[in-house]
Amino acid sequence: MSIYESIESTDSRRHLQLRSPVTLEPTGELICANKEDVDAAIARARAAQPAWAALSYKARAEVLYRALKIVVAKTDEIMETVVAETGKAPADALSMEVFSVADSLCYYAKNAGKFLKPHKRKVHGVLGFAKELRITYKPLGVIGLITPWNGPFVLVMNQAAQALMAGNAVVAKGSEVTPYSAKLAESIFKEAGLPDGVLQVLLGDGATGAAIVEGGVDKISFTGSVATGRKVAESCARQLIPVTLELGGNDAMIVCGDADLDRAADGAWLGSCMNTGHYCCGTERIYVVESVYDEFLAKVLEKGQGLKQGSEHGNDESIGAVFWDKQMDIIESHVEDAKTKGATVHMGGQRNPDLKGLYYQPTVMTEVNNDMDIMVHETFGPVLCIQKVRNEAEAIKLANDSEFGLNGNVWTQDKEKGYQLALQIDTGSCSVNDMAVSYGIPAAPFGGRKNSGVGQVNGEKGLKGYCHEMPVVIDKRGGKMPNAYPYKAETIDGMKKFMNILWVKTPIGRWLS
Ligand code: NAD
Repeated sequence: MSIYESIESTDSRRHLQLRSPVTLEPTGELICANKEDVDAAIARARAAQPAWAALSYKARAEVLYRALKIVVAKTDEIMETVVAETGKAPADALSMEVFSVADSLCYYAKNAGKFLKPHKRKVHGVLGFAKELRITYKPLGVIGLITPWNGPFVLVMNQAAQALMAGNAVVAKGSEVTPYSAKLAESIFKEAGLPDGVLQVLLGDGATGAAIVEGGVDKISFTGSVATGRKVAESCARQLIPVTLELGGNDAMIVCGDADLDRAADGAWLGSCMNTGHYCCGTERIYVVESVYDEFLAKVLEKGQGLKQGSEHGNDESIGAVFWDKQMDIIESHVEDAKTKGATVHMGGQRNPDLKGLYYQPTVMTEVNNDMDIMVHETFGPVLCIQKVRNEAEAIKLANDSEFGLNGNVWTQDKEKGYQLALQIDTGSCSVNDMAVSYGIPAAPFGGRKNSGVGQVNGEKGLKGYCHEMPVVIDKRGGKMPNAYPYKAETIDGMKKFMNILWVKTPIGRWLS
């Protein structure tokens, strides 16, 4: 059984059955937008975009501020929708989906106008006497936004806020696993006064996503798996349109001999299990230096005792359901593979036998290594894989022995040492003494290395990624064109002498640069 499965339809659209991961009962039907629906949405977006782009940043920011107030007022409603579709713990829904969305709306409303303000930039060298350079940021037009199921509301809202503040229209599609959490973004912005057609969230599956990618948009912002990201990138390359790809990860945590082990053990649990472990920057591999290994493991096992699983715990629930059965299959197969190859299971290691829904017990394993799927592929489940290492150098080597490079974290009481170790990890970003937090800090550009992605989103860089940075060069002297036809041989001789004076015989060229 799948959380969504095809059902008979009497029209030309694909119909899917949705089920609750908590009860496994049917919860509704998803009617997928087809190619005609997608084309119509893109046409509506194209028509609506110029008027939206013509508004001032202040006017656009007012819409975002109103959306922010609506999000805060509807906190419970948003949490209920997200929890019903995903089965995640309410505390995860609040922090990851509602708080972070409110924070993001506030940040982009306040700062977009500053980051994207037209400005003058110094022209270096001798041209600086003759030319003025102005930089402007023009919206790209219509953005296709495709998002996964693990952050179904935040991943639409956060990217939409950036694309909209930059003056674009957006045609978005959430995952078929969590369509109605994504759809909330459209209704919230509509209530906030966003003009019709400027943000549309379509319901649909992979074919709907492919139709958006192929539908003639001006950029694709994609978040999802490596396999789909590759297909999206191929299509964008063929069409010569820009794309950002935020893909999977297999993040490493390094616990040094001088770490605060109590904090590190908390960080190991949270980093591995927040959002049921369905966090792209979730901790998937934990390397602990041998001098503190036993003490760290003991603390981890002790802290694991108090965790609550199951919706009957309400807002006290620690680790929620796995969001859909395909992910459950991956988690189960990775853990079984590790057990077969010699891993020791200290806690969990199976589906929760006491709960009807898709619950995987919080799990702690040791004696793991890179022969096991769980250490080399993305598991995306509530599993802590702890490996003893001789020293930090070995930990770094193992951390970098991965096809992924999204995030990572280092634990030591020496901040400067943590910083130096973080620099040695080949990932998009890294935390010291915390789980991966950079997605929630817009000032930190976010994006992966290696198979974890292409390009960066969020903050100033993300906003500019939704624009064309257009330089306008203005002549400030007037008069006769210095390089006008006809060319003359003596001009070449004069130019050679001038170059010598500028860059060889005197430091004038360097002063002017
Ligand atoms: P997925 O690739 O299966 O689907 C992602 C989205 O793409 C969905 O909306 C899906 O319907 C759509 N899609 C599927 N086929 C498509 C196609 N051919 N063309 C266009 N769109 C298509 O990924 P998923 O299973 O939903 O998401 C989980 C993955 O997302 C994990 O690997 C996770 O690490 C990653 N992720 C990454 C980040 C990040 O910021 N790096 C954030 C969250 C999740």
